[in-house]
Amino acid sequence: LLSALAGIRAGHPIHASLQIAGHTVDSPRRIDVRSPYSGALVGSVPMVTAADVERALRTAKAWRSPLSRHQRATILLATAERLRAASEAVSDLISAESGLSKADTRYEVGRACDVFTFAAHEALRDDGATFSCDITPHGRSRKVFTTREPLLGVISAITPFNHPLNQVAHKVAPAIASNNRMVLKPSEKTPLSALLLAEILRDAGLPAEMFTVLTGDPADIAAPLLSAAEVDLVSFTGGVAVGKQIAARAVYKRQVLELGGNDPLIVMEDADLDEAAALAASGSYKNSGQRCTAIKRILVQETVAAPFIARLVENTLAVRHGDPFDECNSMGTVIDEAAAIAIEARVSDAIARGARLLCGHQRNGALYAPTVLDRVDPSWPLVAQETFGPVSPVIRFRDIDEAIAIVNAVPYGLSSAVCTNRMDWITRFVRELQVGTVNIREVPGYRLELTPFGGIKDSGLGYKEGVLEAIKGFTNLKTWSLPW
Ligand code: NAD
Repeated sequence: LLSALAGIRAGHPIHASLQIAGHTVDSPRRIDVRSPYSGALVGSVPMVTAADVERALRTAKAWRSPLSRHQRATILLATAERLRAASEAVSDLISAESGLSKADTRYEVGRACDVFTFAAHEALRDDGATFSCDITPHGRSRKVFTTREPLLGVISAITPFNHPLNQVAHKVAPAIASNNRMVLKPSEKTPLSALLLAEILRDAGLPAEMFTVLTGDPADIAAPLLSAAEVDLVSFTGGVAVGKQIAARAVYKRQVLELGGNDPLIVMEDADLDEAAALAASGSYKNSGQRCTAIKRILVQETVAAPFIARLVENTLAVRHGDPFDECNSMGTVIDEAAAIAIEARVSDAIARGARLLCGHQRNGALYAPTVLDRVDPSWPLVAQETFGPVSPVIRFRDIDEAIAIVNAVPYGLSSAVCTNRMDWITRFVRELQVGTVNIREVPGYRLELTPFGGIKDSGLGYKEGVLEAIKGFTNLKTWSLPW
C-alpha cells in the first residue's frame, strides 16, 4: 500500500488485500471506495467472511506477546516516525477516501503521530501501586501490590469513517502499549487508511498476530466480532443507534462505547465575541463538521446575539469549500452524497419551521456549504438530534438557567464549550452540564491524545478513551500481597 500511495493524485486505484497472521487474504467480493468529491474509484478492499473473522480471532487468542515494554515502545515510536515521514502521502489517502480537505487530513496524521508517541511513553510506565497494610488497628504487617496484565482474550474494535486514521490509532496504540491482541473492523466507507496503518505497524516490527484489520460488510462479520468466545472486550466508536445494538449483542464482554454527540458552544454576554465567533466557526466546520465533538448547537445569550451572529456569518463566509486537494479550500465534502442530502433536509426542515437562514445551505453532490441559521428552537430535529455536518444553528437564550436546561434536555452528553470569564458561571457550567467534558474558551473537541475523553448518557457509558484511559480499560488489574 505504501508504495502505491504515490499514484493517488494521478488517479491510480489501490486494490488492497489484507493479512491474517502474516498470510495474505483476498476475496473476489470487494468493497469499492470512491472519492466523495469526484466519484472516482480510489481503490477496493476485500469483503471477508465470518469464517475469516473467526480464524483471525482464534489465531490472536492463541498468541501471547513476548514483547518487553522497551520493544513495544520502540515499535510505537517507529510507527510515529514512519507516519511522519510519509505524512503527505498518508494525508492524500485520507483525503481521497473521505473527501476531507488536505488541511484537515494533515492535521489528522499529526494527531495520529501524537497517539503513537504518547502510547510509546506509556508503554514504558508501570503504574503499579503499593498499599501498606499496617494502617488500621486490625491491620497486618503485609503489603498489597497492583500490576496490570493484558486481557486473556482478544479486543474487538470497530471504528467510524470520520477520522479514518486517527480513530484506528486510538484503538490500536493503547492495545500495543498494554501488550494485547486486537482485531479491528474499520468503516467500510474509509477502509484503506486502516489497512495502510496495519502495514506501517508491521513494517515497524509489530508481530502479525497482534493486530489484524478485517474489512467487510457488518451484516456478514459483526456476529463473531461481537460475540465470539475469544473476545474479551468490544471497543466501538460510532453512532448511537449502532452502539446500542452492539451493547445488546456483546453479552458479558467488557464494552467501551464512544458514541454520537450534540455538543453546544455557549456564548455568555461577557464573552469576547471575536474569540467566540472564531471558535464557533472552527468548531462547526473543521473536518467538514464531522467530528463527534463538532459544535452542533450554538447557544447565545439574547443580549449579544446580533453582534455575535454578524461575526459568525463573516467567519463562515471566509471558509472556502470544494475540491479537498485544492489548497485554497479549508473544507472538503462530507462523507457521501446521501449524508449531504440528509444534512440539507434537516436544515430545510428548520427553515420551514421558522429558522432564519443567514448563509450557506447550497449542496452539490457531497459538498455542502457551511451554513448559519438563527432563531432555531431547541426542540427541532436539526438540534435535538445529531446533525453530522457543517451547520451552525443559533439558539438564543435569556439566562444561565435556561442555557443549562437546553444543553441537558438532549439525550447526548459528550462535550461542551463555554465562552465567559465569570467564575460563578464557569463553576455552574462545570458542575451542572451533563457531559463528559467542559472546555472554557475552547472548542468542545479540544483535547490531547493523552487526556481522558468520552461521553455519558447516549454518548457513551462513561468509560474514557485517550491513550492513558484506554490502556486502563484494556487491562486487568491484578493485586498480590506479601508479608512485609
Ligand atoms: P456508524 O455507527 O454508522 O458506524 C460505525 C461503525 O460501525 C462502522 O465501522 C460500521 O461499519 C459499523 N457497523 C454498522 N452497523 C453495524 C452492526 N450492525 N454491527 C457492528 N458494526 C456495525 O457511525 P459512522 O457513521 O461511521 O460515524 C459517525 C458517528 O460516529 C457519529 O454519530 C459520531 O458522533 C460518532 N463518533 C463518536 C466518537 C466518540 O468518540 N464519541 C468519535 C467519532 C465519531
